[in-house]
Amino acid sequence: MREFNEELMSFIDASPTPFHAVAMMEKSLEAKGFKKLDECTSWKLQEGGGYYVTRNDSSLIAFTYPPSADKGYTIVGAHTDSPHLRLKPNPVTKSAGTIRFGVEPYGGVLLNPWFDRDLSLAGRIVYLDENGVRCEKLVDIKRSIGIVSSLAIHLDRDANTSHSINSQTDIVPLMACSEEFDFESWVLEEAGESQGKLLAHELSFYDVQKGSFLGIHEEFITSARLDNLLSCYVGLQVLIHTNDPMMLACMDHEEVGSDSHVGAGGTFVEEVLRRIAGEDFSTLMRQSLMVSCDNAHAQHPNFPTKHENEHAPLLNRGVAIKINSNQRYATSARTMGRFVQCAQGIEVATQTFVTRSDMGCGSTIGPITSTRLGMETIDVGVPTLAMHSIRELAGSEDAYGLYQILLHIGKV
Ligand code: ZN
Repeated sequence: MREFNEELMSFIDASPTPFHAVAMMEKSLEAKGFKKLDECTSWKLQEGGGYYVTRNDSSLIAFTYPPSADKGYTIVGAHTDSPHLRLKPNPVTKSAGTIRFGVEPYGGVLLNPWFDRDLSLAGRIVYLDENGVRCEKLVDIKRSIGIVSSLAIHLDRDANTSHSINSQTDIVPLMACSEEFDFESWVLEEAGESQGKLLAHELSFYDVQKGSFLGIHEEFITSARLDNLLSCYVGLQVLIHTNDPMMLACMDHEEVGSDSHVGAGGTFVEEVLRRIAGEDFSTLMRQSLMVSCDNAHAQHPNFPTKHENEHAPLLNRGVAIKINSNQRYATSARTMGRFVQCAQGIEVATQTFVTRSDMGCGSTIGPITSTRLGMETIDVGVPTLAMHSIRELAGSEDAYGLYQILLHIGKV
């Protein structure tokens, strides 16, 4: 289990953006003999083969072929994106003798933890090379290059009682001590393309601190982007090691609502399934099970009343099954029964999560794909504290528990 967590944290460290996460998953799939498909051509799938396809290089679908004749696919769904600060197109601003880079929050960022962290930048650039050919390249600067410094308490006496954060003015990372800054030349140089001409970029700030074990007995793992690269990694390991027909769908843009050409609300999953199934598409949809994996809120020891005790997932007590009668989660008694039966059969614990009735309920890709495809779905996730913080925390036993259940779910 320790090795599983170590590799999980290495995967997350190497995946500061969805582009990098997809590239990491591609590498693992290639090493296991999965073949890359291109959405711009027709496909000829061979029985016994493993395949994967990407869209925008930020969403990935991988699958074994063919699906089961009676159970279709077990589809493990997860998302590749996490809330963060995204660089604006024209980022350079000047203030108090420094250069700062303007940012736009992506998704529901918990802003407070972004202060006083060593930040780096990663993402994708599009540029013309020295021959005038348009190219794309992934960039990861890796070293600390920016920081959002706090205002000293002497200058903000209410800092500990009533501090709010203005996302336009208060979280602009400090980058350099100079009057002038040529952003385009700097980015191209960092990308190793100093002869090029920058056309566009999608770059994101991230914390350079790596994931680690934490706790007196190393009961916890702590890292950025546990939501939801943890589930991407677990799903990938299941696909690589299972003997059952399976699909993995790791989608971008969940944190901003999933409505895009690469998100779960778009056409990607459906189009891939249509190509696989042909005229048996409807049958395959009715046979298959979607297991939508996205981290769940663990009960916080300092704020226990934010949960109802009877439905409060605890760290290291098993995967949380998410239930919401208003269909913010797609779990039904039927899909939950199958999941619990599987977990009990291999003696892995599960828990149930229901949001307090007087609080709003989050959602995830489960209900979206379930609606789009008409597929039976269960929403599950590893209990997590500090969701959407720059540093999240999960139990060190729960990711492996999810892995074990998913490895066996196709058999029940
Ligand atoms: Zn999530």
